[in-house]
Amino acid sequence: MSIMDYFAVRIVPRMYRGKGALHPSPTGKLTEMVSCVREYDVNIFFIRKGDTLIAIDAGYKNHPGLLQGCREIGVDPAQVTALFLTHADPDHAGGLDMRQTNPFSGADVYVGEIEENYLTNRYHRKQIGPIGLKNSVVIRPGYRLLKDGEVVRVGELKIQALLVPGHTLGHLCYLIDDTLLFTGDCIALNKEGGRCFFALFNYDSQLNIRSLLALKERLALSEIRYVFTSHNGYTDDAQSAFRHVDAIPDIRARGFVFDDTAPYDCFAEEGG
Ligand SMILES: [Zn+2]
Repeated sequence: MSIMDYFAVRIVPRMYRGKGALHPSPTGKLTEMVSCVREYDVNIFFIRKGDTLIAIDAGYKNHPGLLQGCREIGVDPAQVTALFLTHADPDHAGGLDMRQTNPFSGADVYVGEIEENYLTNRYHRKQIGPIGLKNSVVIRPGYRLLKDGEVVRVGELKIQALLVPGHTLGHLCYLIDDTLLFTGDCIALNKEGGRCFFALFNYDSQLNIRSLLALKERLALSEIRYVFTSHNGYTDDAQSAFRHVDAIPDIRARGFVFDDTAPYDCFAEEGG
């Protein structure tokens, strides 16, 4: 197991249990167009419109619950025609790792052009003292790179990539049909609204805050019907999702609970 994988599935669960920081949506249908599968602490999103089926992110490498979760929501992952990665971390891109069977075998894969530097290990994911942590995910060549603002049309769906650096330097949000915003790991959401994502995971939290404030200005929030996060569920209140994005939750504070409805430990519950 690589240091990054060890961090993701051994260290993070121990540090975060009981803090209410991780509260993904349960596997199921979320809105008319959007369904999700939960893998431990993260969601993979599926968007269906007419005959078009796309996905946002790919979950963990070899997660045992993926196929069962897909069956529960009536999705065949091999039928996904395009898969858009918010970033290259193992809980989002691991499901495309070339050392496992590819569940998304029919999908064109998209990733941000800056984010690619983590896949090729030109960038370190995190610096801890003298040690630069490398990304552990290796995906098949042939993926397509997205620039900030670029629009891709897949069947009847319009997908726009929005660069929001901070969690990683190439992190993308995706705006679909101008109404559905997928924020990956830049916003931490609870009933009081959205905040900057948890500092431990961020490459640069202050950069993430500046990026979120810029994104808030850039978007027509009144047109956005739903805002989805990868680790904290979703909301139909786009204003609320950006309400506190200049603040970072202090996960280390004694007695801190970010979301008192979150599971004690997402990783302890097997499957999807
Ligand atoms: Zn994540």
